[in-house]
Amino acid sequence: MTSEQSWWQTKSLAEMSEPEWESLCDGCGKCCLVKLQDYDNDDIYFTNVTCELLDTESCQCSDYAGRHAIVTDCIKLDRNNINEISWLPQSCSYRLLDAGLPLPEWHHLRSGDRQTLHSYGASLRGKVISERFVHDDDIEDHIIKWID
Ligand code: SF4
Ligand code: SF4
Repeated sequence: MTSEQSWWQTKSLAEMSEPEWESLCDGCGKCCLVKLQDYDNDDIYFTNVTCELLDTESCQCSDYAGRHAIVTDCIKLDRNNINEISWLPQSCSYRLLDAGLPLPEWHHLRSGDRQTLHSYGASLRGKVISERFVHDDDIEDHIIKWID
């Protein structure tokens, strides 16, 4: 370990405290996109529609503490399931660190500013619509391929 290295570079995910784990999330919102699954082959398709609770401007959950009572299939990421969730974006901080890769320069832990990812276009801001404004029958029309 050199003096220049920060805690997220020296600790494994398993070694991190709960506050450290929570602070890793970059706030991109990409894990809150509505996804459709093909029941014939299990393929997953992403949309540009977000969960009803996502604030599409801040890209934050509008009821993080009470979310599971409203969105029953909201998945809480933890050290045990991080490798089992195939649909997490490549840019997800947890995926990157788990793979031994560095956090991007726009990550708040590197830039010191939680707004940096928005100015880099790395979040969902300006690219999505809430499912509150999309009829269930129209969701398939919103399937897109995200580049992350
Ligand atoms: S994709 Fe990963 S980094 Fe982005 S909001 Fe979800 S958990 Fe956080
Ligand atoms: S409930 Fe909140 S954290 Fe869960 S998917 Fe919806 S916006 Fe994201």
